[in-house]
Amino acid sequence: MFGKKLVQLAAMKFFMKCDDAAHICDKTQYKEAGLFDKLMLKIHLLMCKLCRGYAKRNAKLTETIKSANIKTLHPEEKQRLKTRLQQEENNRP
Ligand SMILES: [Zn+2]
Repeated sequence: MFGKKLVQLAAMKFFMKCDDAAHICDKTQYKEAGLFDKLMLKIHLLMCKLCRGYAKRNAKLTETIKSANIKTLHPEEKQRLKTRLQQEENNRP
């Protein structure tokens, strides 16, 4: 039968996979996601309960970190910042 589940599966196949959604979700937290990515993520979140939960947790985590005002950066974030700085350095005319 063509139930809700199948519609969800089809939609996910057309738009994005949960892995991609999680990835964009992370990018959104770092404000790295583009407008198109965000739109696709929104559509995916509408249909995918799993990723909706993930996005919620992610947002909460970011909020917690912000409110805790943690001064030391996560190693991964440090690396991210380093890479970005290097990229900017390389893009300089
Ligand atoms: Zn999903």
